[in-house]
Amino acid sequence: MQKVNHADFIKYLKEQWSGKCPLCGSGNWNIQAAVYQLIPYGVDTLIVDDPNPNIPVIPVFCTKCGNTILVSATIAGLVRK
Ligand SMILES: [Zn+2]
Repeated sequence: MQKVNHADFIKYLKEQWSGKCPLCGSGNWNIQAAVYQLIPYGVDTLIVDDPNPNIPVIPVFCTKCGNTILVSATIAGLVRK
């Protein structure tokens, strides 16, 4: 699992994000320093021939309501394209 620089991610979020949860209005977030990937979903099978098979994301979740936001690690500049 790829990790990102936590300080760089915090800096990016402070530049881009108002900080309030859109569901509950809280401002308490838990930030992961690891990159996950979204892959295409198939009902009966794993899709492996998609030209863009994965999207690197960093989850950030609200500690009050659990709302989870996925930030593109590529756009945040934390992983290479
Ligand atoms: Zn919330």
